[in-house]
Amino acid sequence: MQGLMQEWPLVCHKIIDYAAAIHGARPVVSRSVEGPIRTTTYADIARRARQVAKRLERDGIRLGDRVATLAWNTERHLEVWYGLLGLGAIYHTVNPRLFREQIAWLINDAEDQIVFVDLTFVPILEAIAGELSTVERVVVLTDAAHMPETALPNAVAYEDWIAEVDADFRWADFDEGTAAGLCYTSGTTGHPKGVLYSHRSNMLHAMTVSGVDMMNIGCQDMVMPVVPMFHANGWGLPFAAPLNGSALVMPGPKMDGASIYEMLTRYGVTVTAAVPTVWLMLLAHLDEHGGALPDLRRVVIGGSACPRAITEAFQERYGVHVCHAWGMTEMSPLGTVCTVRPELGHLSEEETLRLQEKQGYPALTVEMKVTDDEGRDLPWDGTTFGRLKVRGPAVAREYYKGAGGEILDADGFFDTGDVATIDPYGYMEITDRSKDVIKSGGEWISSIELENVAVGHPDVAEAAVIGVGHPTWGERPLLIVVAKHGHAPDKAEIIDYMRDKVAKFWLPDDVVLVEEIPHTATGKIKKTALREQFGDYELPAEAARPVTL
Ligand code: ADP
Repeated sequence: MQGLMQEWPLVCHKIIDYAAAIHGARPVVSRSVEGPIRTTTYADIARRARQVAKRLERDGIRLGDRVATLAWNTERHLEVWYGLLGLGAIYHTVNPRLFREQIAWLINDAEDQIVFVDLTFVPILEAIAGELSTVERVVVLTDAAHMPETALPNAVAYEDWIAEVDADFRWADFDEGTAAGLCYTSGTTGHPKGVLYSHRSNMLHAMTVSGVDMMNIGCQDMVMPVVPMFHANGWGLPFAAPLNGSALVMPGPKMDGASIYEMLTRYGVTVTAAVPTVWLMLLAHLDEHGGALPDLRRVVIGGSACPRAITEAFQERYGVHVCHAWGMTEMSPLGTVCTVRPELGHLSEEETLRLQEKQGYPALTVEMKVTDDEGRDLPWDGTTFGRLKVRGPAVAREYYKGAGGEILDADGFFDTGDVATIDPYGYMEITDRSKDVIKSGGEWISSIELENVAVGHPDVAEAAVIGVGHPTWGERPLLIVVAKHGHAPDKAEIIDYMRDKVAKFWLPDDVVLVEEIPHTATGKIKKTALREQFGDYELPAEAARPVTL
């Protein structure tokens, strides 16, 4: 027997309609690409999104068509995002930090018909225009006064383009399984693969991430997604914020410590989210210039492991609660959040900090397991690590155009490519990415854990660990370090500092000081580049080593 409740498809544009109707006056503040800070509201965004949809339809865009954005987090990007959703077209958020050839490849693979581009990225598009086979028009996200001279196809200034129509537009009708957005994972091997979100998966994900024990946002909050909309669905915040009536602060093109600090304090941001690199820059800025974060109550940190030093700095120095989160593009992207549950309320401050190094536990919509290489389930004992696998209504079942073939196991679980432990309370901890874990004498060494420990040293700004070939042990860890501004760390002293914090055989065999550690387009340490650079690194002879194995 079926239930007798109404059909009400979970389609994403309902979110912006709801925000306009109930939270219409709530501000959306953006640092514009042109420079000035602009303030608009959810009511404005909903109205202009309808104009976008109507104008897109006039340009021939229909249900299922792909449209690219190459843009920072601003209110215009949000208008385009919802305009596309309400038309049943698909937003394809392109990461402008990728190589130009990759960007061209992505746009062609997606078969994007229109590209919305910020002024910053017009030169990128100009450089690859000749290679784009499906793009018929480029809309530059600016007004006539700032419109550059360009030979891009049918280029037009966004403000002129939407001004040609009014907002009298009825959203298209389609079911909740319809594709909504396309986001490519970074292609560590071969080409990137597209993850195609549906309206339903986005809606369920947005509801999940908003929860009190997840990102915890509501209508009292001023939310600043520093994580760009072109990273893994903007971590769901472009949906979760309007869904909850949270005001938004969009940082636009400026993500350095000073600019982020300015937006946080000037607009009273209460919840914000980004990768650790951003927070390292903010904390360095605060160290150098002083300052306080009186309104900020919660900072969501994910994308790479959040080192304990960041958690301590936020919580102890600035009174801001750190919420360590893990996820991936294929998961919409949030998988787990590390919230302290009541059964762990008795933990000491020290033990709580240790717990917060874990990536946390999932909400209802994500099921997890760890398995060995043969796919056998491993125990949730907090020490046995294995392949982390997930399933749920906002987890990919296959890639766009079938790239990579079959991606689920017989029980419908997706292998995340991460190696992790799960403890008896269900808290998951990433040990490494399966390709980064260091295999030494038949044992596994977590590069992440070593990096986290190393950045706790007062002279170290950033640390990366890779495995370097070794005749006896197979691989041994090499620690690569960027010193804090004006500091000159001593190699042996760093190793000494780490000595009582990790197993003896985990201690790096050597330390290299570098000016800069390379990062991927999503802000993670680029281990492939480090391996290329240091793969043949000659480790000190056994006797000279700081460690006896
Ligand atoms: P990309 O691979 O394109 O950089 P993703 O966001 O999809 O982008 O990356 C997902 C991966 O990032 C995860 O599989 C995991 O390896 C890593 N990751 C994300 N959050 C964390 C975290 N909190 N701790 C450790 N690793 C993380």
